[in-house]
Amino acid sequence: MSRILIVLALLCGCLQPAPCADWKVVKSDGRDYLTMDNIAEFYGLSAVRRKDREATATSGVRTVRAAIGSPDFFINNLKFILSYPAIENEGKVCISRLDLVKLIEPVMRPSRIKNAEPIDTVVLDAGHGGHDSGAMSIYGPEKAFALDVVLRAKALIQATGLKVVLTRSDDTFVTLDERARIASQYKRGIFIAVHFNSGGYGTGVESYTLAPRGVPSMMADGPAVSDFNDCRGNARDAENIALATASHAALVVKTGLFDRGLKRARFVVIRNITIPGVLIEGGFQSNPYDAKLIATAGYRQLLAQAILQAVQNYRRAVGNEQLPAVVHTDDSGKPAKPEPEKTAKRETPPGAKPAPITPPSPN
Ligand SMILES: [Zn+2]
Repeated sequence: MSRILIVLALLCGCLQPAPCADWKVVKSDGRDYLTMDNIAEFYGLSAVRRKDREATATSGVRTVRAAIGSPDFFINNLKFILSYPAIENEGKVCISRLDLVKLIEPVMRPSRIKNAEPIDTVVLDAGHGGHDSGAMSIYGPEKAFALDVVLRAKALIQATGLKVVLTRSDDTFVTLDERARIASQYKRGIFIAVHFNSGGYGTGVESYTLAPRGVPSMMADGPAVSDFNDCRGNARDAENIALATASHAALVVKTGLFDRGLKRARFVVIRNITIPGVLIEGGFQSNPYDAKLIATAGYRQLLAQAILQAVQNYRRAVGNEQLPAVVHTDDSGKPAKPEPEKTAKRETPPGAKPAPITPPSPN
């Protein structure tokens, strides 16, 4: 089973949590943490195996991994970036309650995705444009490469029968607010923004999804937006993380580039939209290896294929599609049904309540 199928299995809510896990909350720096042992038990995984600073729990096709002092958290080898690094307490590796509730739980058991709107439109957003060139490499500007990827993805997605809307289809400048306004017109749409990174010799691909209320952003987002402001896009938190997981898995698998992880941000284009959204960074314009790759039509076609795969993964995950036969299936060959909502108190992670989620304490 390929990694992408495993991620799909996660998204389809195939996981059966243990009927009861006694949560033992550990306090550190005024913040609540749960042990990996607790988390493993809750999701029906094996006992935690320790190797130096790393803790791994697994079961069948499922694996979760964390390391003391690191914000990297792996679910089936796909990298997610925690809001707070894992800590060690009395010899146990611990994860913050905020990360359990806002990241691990919706990815492992996306039960609320059952309310997702069926989609009929994909809004593709090529970053920058016009006087705003974005990041430059010796081969050309980010704005041109992003537009080329989007045009390629449009052709692929349209061939599946979905409607595709572009926020820009040529080299013009479109404000961020206007991009969000365009996207929000399509009630049954999803939004995918395409960018390329810059910054030293950084390399690899990464994805951003809107930080839920109370979750810190991992990026400077321009004008400060408080972690506790409700952004328009937060109405779609569950679908956002589902789309971002589907999309990031496709991006990592298709490109084969270094996985920099799925991160949280409050970029205007993902916070001011009313449909599920994700922003992908398809490599570094500032890195000689990445830049050369980005400048090739073959690599940009791979990115377009990753975007198509992201759309198909997402539609399958939320179970609202009649997909062509080329799409991945789970082990049984059928999309799994979403899990019913859990009501038993001990079947929810501590702090996880039916929507709206109680804001975590601000520390
Ligand atoms: Zn950009």
